[in-house]
Amino acid sequence: MENTTPMLRQYLEIKEKHPGTILFFRLGDFYEMFNEDAILASKELEITLTARHKDSPNPIPMCGVPHHSAAGYISRLVRKGFRVAICEQAEEAGKGTKLVRREVVRIITPGTVIDSQLLDPRESVFLATIDARGDKSALAVLDLSTGEFLCTESEGADAWQKIVDQLRSFQPREILYATALEALVADTFRGDALGGTYTLTPLDSDFFDADANELLLKKQFGVKELSAFEIDGRKSLLSVAGAALRYARETQRESADHIDGIKLLKSEDFLVLDPVTLRNLEILQPIGESKRRTLMGVLDETVTGMGSRTLRSWLTRPLLDIREISGRQDAVDFLRDSIVRDGLRSSLADIYDLERLVGRLNLGVANARDLLALGRTLRQTPVIKQIMARSTSSLLRDLETKIDPLPDLVQLIENAISDEPPINIGEGGTIRGGFDSDLDQLRSISNSGKQVIARFEEDERIRTGISSLKVKFNNVFGYFIEISKSNLAKVPDDYVRKQTLANAERFTTPDLKEWEQKVLGAEERILQLEIEIFNRVRNTVRERTNSLITTARSLAATDALCAFAEVAVSRRYTRPELHPGDALDIKGGRHPVVEVFLDGDFVPNDVSMNNSSDRLIILTGPNMGGKSTILRQIALMQVMAQAGCFVPAEIARLPIVDRVWTRVGASDDLASGRSTFMVEMTETATILLNATPRSLVLLDEIGRGTSTFDGLSIAWAVAEFMHNSAEHSAKTIFATHYHELTELESLLPGVKNYEVTAKESGGRVVFLHRMQRGKASQSYGIAVAKLAGIPQSVIDRAKEVLARLEEYELAVLSSGIAPSQMTAPKPKTVAQMSLFGIANEAVIDDLRNFNPSNASADELREFLNMLQRRIV
Ligand code: ATP
Repeated sequence: MENTTPMLRQYLEIKEKHPGTILFFRLGDFYEMFNEDAILASKELEITLTARHKDSPNPIPMCGVPHHSAAGYISRLVRKGFRVAICEQAEEAGKGTKLVRREVVRIITPGTVIDSQLLDPRESVFLATIDARGDKSALAVLDLSTGEFLCTESEGADAWQKIVDQLRSFQPREILYATALEALVADTFRGDALGGTYTLTPLDSDFFDADANELLLKKQFGVKELSAFEIDGRKSLLSVAGAALRYARETQRESADHIDGIKLLKSEDFLVLDPVTLRNLEILQPIGESKRRTLMGVLDETVTGMGSRTLRSWLTRPLLDIREISGRQDAVDFLRDSIVRDGLRSSLADIYDLERLVGRLNLGVANARDLLALGRTLRQTPVIKQIMARSTSSLLRDLETKIDPLPDLVQLIENAISDEPPINIGEGGTIRGGFDSDLDQLRSISNSGKQVIARFEEDERIRTGISSLKVKFNNVFGYFIEISKSNLAKVPDDYVRKQTLANAERFTTPDLKEWEQKVLGAEERILQLEIEIFNRVRNTVRERTNSLITTARSLAATDALCAFAEVAVSRRYTRPELHPGDALDIKGGRHPVVEVFLDGDFVPNDVSMNNSSDRLIILTGPNMGGKSTILRQIALMQVMAQAGCFVPAEIARLPIVDRVWTRVGASDDLASGRSTFMVEMTETATILLNATPRSLVLLDEIGRGTSTFDGLSIAWAVAEFMHNSAEHSAKTIFATHYHELTELESLLPGVKNYEVTAKESGGRVVFLHRMQRGKASQSYGIAVAKLAGIPQSVIDRAKEVLARLEEYELAVLSSGIAPSQMTAPKPKTVAQMSLFGIANEAVIDDLRNFNPSNASADELREFLNMLQRRIV
């Protein structure tokens, strides 16, 4: 291929400089791909694979997509995790055969997409960078479309795991790391799914050079010191933050001025929700199919994409500072007034995604329509400010002062940009008439020229007597007179032949040439001038990036607060009281998501906890009784409250918790090769090692994935640990089917038993879904199995076996591991045995100890009968 055309050689040179990308090579109105790129893209995009130099011995595989519809194809490739380099013509194609200069103007990768077609307005697109050095690990996440930039670090033996946990909660689209970490990264993300698809991108270690990155970050943020961002001198943070920025700038080929700072996330600032808890509580993503069945789905009454993204981050990182929380609550309280709220929401609904518009502006891709959208958004802001200024909430008033209507920019945009500008400036008509006198003059020359040419056509028809004579225009020949073959005899002598067609001849005249030059010259200059003026306007707007970003973020927060207020009213939520103590009291609490999707009425429940007498709740009750629902509703309420939202309860008095931990239900993680039980134990271990007295821990059915006595023993020991540990004793709710655990109430002072109730009537179970003090007397498992349609014969047999098992369980427990002695269970008794095994072993023990030589015939018969009855 090297020996072929200059154009293909140019292609190869550019391709070599951009390894790991699919090169979209602009040729006229198409983007072409060659060689392995063409083979791959034709397969992925289902487009025809052709070949250049088809008939030569070495045809070159090739495929292409039209320039005007390329965005859709690029989006499909990027969604599949590919990186696409866009190579454009860097100069106008001149006359002759000279090769035009081409260069890559942008590389689109899964983590750096900014085109609105590729973005979900309600979700952030994060690019993440991770690094590990010694016992420190660090993470930076960047949403290039909005400039949101965050980082965090962790130290100690489990630093890497903590950072990876944090990374997962952002659900990044692309993860950057130094090639030196290849093995660690491969091991960490093996067979993994972060709850979406993501691409792993290894980078040269230069990207992570802390010293060079420090300089780059200072330049980017326009500061001499990074102390305001709390990252100065912190090498691991400088390394990851700089790498993310460097990558963003390299792919965009722009300075990205909207990235004007970075926020250091500290675990002491936020309620930490690890990915397992986020998933178990279904905060952002449902475990099942229905997308709306999540906390986010129920609370997201925002009317803008920016607002929705803000709400999402508030729910992922709720606050710890009571003052900050009550600031949000005051705002929600004020916004409950429907006149105020409706007024704000209807104005907000008319604004565009200002955050992303500013992003596009600073990445050099904003077109005239983006500027118009920006102007229209700013035009709405005075009304929004007016409503907010009347607020009693200091947060709303503070947000109001940060919204800058920038009237001079609005004026500039409205004066400069026409009402319906084309997407591409090259099509003309972007700049409004009256804005620039030079442009107006050129336009009038061009228009009058066109009028003269129209008149010329009329005159020539009369002069030649050819009524079908037409003056036409095309890009190659300019203006010409077209005469059909049948009329050629009438052509005057002063016509100069330009071109011969099958049925017609084309001519020009000196007059026509003169006007053509005037018109075309003017049009060319019009286009140049339009581009110049547009760039001037765009740069003037760009200079106000800081104000625009602050305005955008304030509008987004206002929208999120309005959404909280909307649900507070429509779903009858109340304002929770958050206090510095440890008591958690909920009266009439409901599950925010289950109550929305339930056919019947949701039964509200009360719960009281503290760090002394009621620190461990053992919750028993029938299957389907509502245990998991209650567990989750308490956790969700705590998350909502700390995010500043009102809660579904009559009264809620809540402490501030540092973490919510959950171990809910059994989930296989087959992809990473861990069994249900292994996953369960790993998650439980994390909780036991990391919970603090300020945490809220929810344990649902732990120990279920193994044999009954193994499971029971583990559950018992875990419950005891959570109660007794000085360091890790968190408020804990433990839902379980192991009735034996209810014995703990009489053994440990901080344990309280609760049950969810059900009653059996006429062989059917009626679930009351009510939580009350006490312990469940039976588990109703068989009744539920019957409800589920298990055949009657199996149900009858199960009842028989249950009756026997209960008999034996009592016998075995009283001889071996009576619950009251379970604080130190005998290891042998607990080892790997099912209830059946233990019951039968008791029979064998009796048989072994029986001395037949002293027994009478009656005694022997009686003994054998008894053994037979007891075999399970
Ligand atoms: P299992 O032990 O089988 O896991 P569970 O006790 O955890 O069951 P849940 O899954 O919490 O039971 O609840 C089962 C169903 O009962 C829920 O899907 C919901 O439809 C309904 N439910 C739960 N709580 C309530 C309530 N308070 N009011 C009304 N319906 C409820």
